[in-house]
Amino acid sequence: GHRSASSSPDIRERTLIAVKPDGVQRRLVGKVIQRFEQRGFKLVGLKMLQVSEDILAQHYSHLRAKPFYPDLVDYMTSGPVVIMVWEGYNVVQSTRSMVGHTNPVEAPPGTVRGDFGLHVSRNVVHASDSVEGAKGEIQLWFQRQEILNWESCDQAISCEL
Ligand code: GDP
Ligand code: MG
Repeated sequence: GHRSASSSPDIRERTLIAVKPDGVQRRLVGKVIQRFEQRGFKLVGLKMLQVSEDILAQHYSHLRAKPFYPDLVDYMTSGPVVIMVWEGYNVVQSTRSMVGHTNPVEAPPGTVRGDFGLHVSRNVVHASDSVEGAKGEIQLWFQRQEILNWESCDQAISCEL
């Protein structure tokens, strides 16, 4: 239908999700993707890459002064990551709660980190923590043409609120 942007929920909200090197090594890519698919979110970008220290320094600029930063760089550059853009209503907040607390010890069962993680230094996935943050992260990791705008056949049921 024709509803104004102000009255309809933002079904085009996007977030950046990454399966970190430990998640790739442990063959958890499919399980992570399945959770977001079955929740109803739409995958609009996906690639596998070896992370450079340069992009990581931008991605984790808020952590550069932390004592664990060198370990974080070693961890994140230890192998390929699978990096994704997911779209849908309230996707940033919803995926953060599906991912769970940064420290898997604090992440409840049912969350990705609570089900698959043991330690904060190997916590399996990344998820943007705000809509604004997600915009910056998506710009950092993806070219515009790498993000696909596709209409899902169940749009009216799962997306148009
Ligand atoms: P996130 O948004 O939940 O991923 O958490 P942050 O943005 O605060 O931190 C980014 C990443 O840095 C986390 O996912 C961890 O992999 C890592 N990290 C955060 N805190 C610690 C810590 O105290 N020790 C270590 N080794 N890594 C940490
Ligand atoms: Mg973060």
